[in-house]
Amino acid sequence: MGGVISSIQSSITAITSVIRTISTLNAKYQALLQRIETGPFTPVDNPTESYWMRDAPFPEIGDVIGEIPEEADVVVVGSGITGAAAVKTLYELSGDDVNGDGDGGKKAPRIVVLEARQLCSGATARNGGHIKCTPHEEFSRLRKTLGEERARKVVRMQMRHLDVLKKL
Ligand SMILES: Cc1cc2nc3c(=O)[nH]c(=O)nc-3n(C[C@H](O)[C@H](O)[C@H](O)COP(=O)(O)OP(=O)(O)OC[C@H]3O[C@@H](n4cnc5c(N)ncnc54)[C@H](O)[C@@H]3O)c2cc1C
Repeated sequence: MGGVISSIQSSITAITSVIRTISTLNAKYQALLQRIETGPFTPVDNPTESYWMRDAPFPEIGDVIGEIPEEADVVVVGSGITGAAAVKTLYELSGDDVNGDGDGGKKAPRIVVLEARQLCSGATARNGGHIKCTPHEEFSRLRKTLGEERARKVVRMQMRHLDVLKKL
């Protein structure tokens, strides 16, 4: 009899534990769904600040608050390395008639950059500055997911960073 009771008790403990785990997982899943369904936020008002941002070069371009034109060819949201690289590339491509207006591309595109805080003040201004890569580790990792040829291309692209940055 005692053995049966003990067996029932341990079954109840196991079931309770399973129910608790499922309930915790479900709460996390619901929170995740809610986060996915919410639109992207604007950045927080008081971000952390790397000390080198206190003495940033070209402070005059950090807070450019101009009148927002009514029309633009391209509007870029965010002025970090992603936005800046997109703008630079678009200007470079303007020789290829980026406006598509058939004028041979002589006219530079009208680009507006919208930045919630200061120009280039996000992760791009705060990072550690590492541009090194580790091809010996990266290649074998990438080869598994991308295949040999694409892994080679990615690693070569990473290895060009230093030269490109110096040129820039
Ligand atoms: C602490 C730290 C250390 C790092 N160290 C390294 C490193 O050593 N080497 C390395 O290669 N990478 C590093 N990284 C990663 C690297 O810095 C980022 O991957 C890269 O800078 C991201 O650039 P981004 O342009 O996509 O984003 P960001 O530079 O963050 O730019 C996004 C911009 O968009 C603006 N923005 C966002 N939402 C809106 C909105 N709704 N309206 C208007 N503006 C908006 C933001 O204010 C911000 O200026 C580091 C990152 C951090 C945070």
